[in-house]
Amino acid sequence: MTDIDVARLTALLDGDYAEVRAKVRAAVAEHALLLDEVEELPREDYRERVRETLLEMARTGLTGLGFPTEYGGAGDLGASIAAFEALAYGDLSVLVKSGVQFGLFGGAILQLGTAPHHETYLADVVAGRLLGCFAMTEHGHGSNVAALGTVATYDAATQEFVIRTGAEDAFKDYIGNAAAHGELAVVFAQLVVGGEERGVHAFLVPIRVEGRPAAGVRIADDGPKMGLNGVDNGRLWFDDVRVPRTALLNRFADVTPEGEYVSDIENPSRRFFTMLGTLVQGRVSVGGAAIAASEVALTIAIRYALRRRQFEATSDTEEELLLDYGQHQRRLLPLLARTYALHLAQQVVRHDLHQVFSGAVTDEKSRRELESRAAGTKALGTWHATRAIQECREACGGAGFMAANRFAALKADTDVFTTFEGDNTVLLQLVAKGLLTDYAGEFEEMDQLDIIRFIGETAVETILEKTSVHTLLERVRDAIPTAGEDEPDIREADYHLAMLRFREEHMLAGAARRLKRGVDKGLNPGSVFSRVQDHVIATARAHVERLVLEAFVEKVRSLPDGAERDVLELLCDLHALSTIEADRAWFIEHGRLSVQRSKAITAEVNRLCRRVRPHARALVDAFAIPEELLRARDLLGAG
Ligand SMILES: Cc1cc2nc3c(=O)[nH]c(=O)nc-3n(C[C@H](O)[C@H](O)[C@H](O)COP(=O)(O)OP(=O)(O)OC[C@H]3O[C@@H](n4cnc5c(N)ncnc54)[C@H](O)[C@@H]3O)c2cc1C
Repeated sequence: MTDIDVARLTALLDGDYAEVRAKVRAAVAEHALLLDEVEELPREDYRERVRETLLEMARTGLTGLGFPTEYGGAGDLGASIAAFEALAYGDLSVLVKSGVQFGLFGGAILQLGTAPHHETYLADVVAGRLLGCFAMTEHGHGSNVAALGTVATYDAATQEFVIRTGAEDAFKDYIGNAAAHGELAVVFAQLVVGGEERGVHAFLVPIRVEGRPAAGVRIADDGPKMGLNGVDNGRLWFDDVRVPRTALLNRFADVTPEGEYVSDIENPSRRFFTMLGTLVQGRVSVGGAAIAASEVALTIAIRYALRRRQFEATSDTEEELLLDYGQHQRRLLPLLARTYALHLAQQVVRHDLHQVFSGAVTDEKSRRELESRAAGTKALGTWHATRAIQECREACGGAGFMAANRFAALKADTDVFTTFEGDNTVLLQLVAKGLLTDYAGEFEEMDQLDIIRFIGETAVETILEKTSVHTLLERVRDAIPTAGEDEPDIREADYHLAMLRFREEHMLAGAARRLKRGVDKGLNPGSVFSRVQDHVIATARAHVERLVLEAFVEKVRSLPDGAERDVLELLCDLHALSTIEADRAWFIEHGRLSVQRSKAITAEVNRLCRRVRPHARALVDAFAIPEELLRARDLLGAG
């Protein structure tokens, strides 16, 4: 293989947004010192430094790219996600505070509000003159947003909403920007008009005036956290806080001055999910940021493994480089391959998001598929970060434990990515819901019980027809014959894809059948779902794994011949085969892998690791993470 052109690989990874990402890299690198400083700072000062940095970043214009141009943005949602991903190479408190301010708070005003809200607030939000919160989660309810306990009651006499923290555990919790800096909050509350409950809606509520809690608002600090201590997370209580009628973010529903509730979306459940669906960009952002954090960890660990020597192995005179040990390759290179896979899969999600939100794609099914894909990629990306960062830390030995080498913050700060913007397990259930209902028109109105009923009544026949073992085998027979028959080339991408497709569809059919059987027996639908839940979630995971591999294969196939394509082909095969290897028990159980073939896959993964090894440095250099941001000076040497 000829030498790889790192710049070309970087261009491929940066995709449509090379220029934006280059600008963000440079802007983040200017604040590289922050990474050193914050280690020693007391929490209050760390928060202050993060706030200042956030405001400086806002001044570059790079944090507001997704907003309309008239408010200081660039009207380019795809660019704003790409920028956010590159921001994740730096301090992650700055990243998360930026996500809260521009993605969640600003995003909610943009997506849930209408022109008067945009005109009143967006320019100040984008410029960082007005800092705010996205106050959805409560102490008592996180994943189950529909059950929030904060209540907003319309008072027609004064044309105001009265916001009240209802139940004892209904105070807002973990809210970014709440403890110190936020002035205005988008508060999610149950709307009550004329005594009738209308479900969760969003309201703009001032929480702080000149640095002090606004009248009727109580604020508490969440205190020290496992990570992200530069973000001021806090709790909020509302004691009959009055806000004007226009404080309702009224894109999807409104209340007239007389107290009539009006909405173009009749079904309350559909309205609720339509509202939440517009906030999907946060999920896409966090997934992308997690993948970027894995890139930082892998760059440090692989570069260290190319310098650090321990024990004589192949020579009597010199100790062996860590990355020349088979096990070290095994630990790091499949993770590197998976990082590339996820990075490229994230590009697809970002592109789909841009298409749907810019109006280039308007059909409902695409929107539902985007929501599902965003949820699945976020789950896999953030779990991957947790795993990759830990492995990279260990791969750097004791040095990896030193805060100066970045892993301490990377681990602590990314940990919660698996939870916020949707808990991963809950998100995979959303993915499963789409699969089980084939994104049916009624998809949005369905809760768990409806899904089970739907499966019992209609969907299962379609699913079974599409995925019956018979049909499945016919479709994939050539690609994956029964274990032991003439098996195709182990390196063939179509074979890898067929394996992952088979697993997904087989699992889906099995889960649907089990759910239907339970319903047919007259069992309680909730208990039926609970019993099959692990199967349902495994199906969702298998589905997303397939999408991720498809994104990688498609990207490789789109490249012109050359060294970059060759190395990515190796990496793609390594990702595919290590994914199959990780679930080889399942494939053997289902007759798709012979024991011999399974061993051959393990041997091939090892061989691929050896073949990727000479390109490891180029592959991490292609992430183009500024040297200052890697810190790890004693680990990496001069570079
Ligand atoms: C640092 C930080 C910052 C945050 N910032 C904000 C913010 O700015 N604004 C905001 O509104 N929120 C914020 N959050 C809240 C965050 O979004 C929630 O923590 C998250 O949605 C999960 O809710 P929860 O904590 O109540 O967990 P729960 O929903 O109680 O989940 C707990 C566990 O139960 C499992 N579980 C839940 N339901 C099911 C089910 N049906 N089946 C199987 N398992 C289930 C989950 O997988 C999880 O492991 C933040 C949280 C943190 C930690």
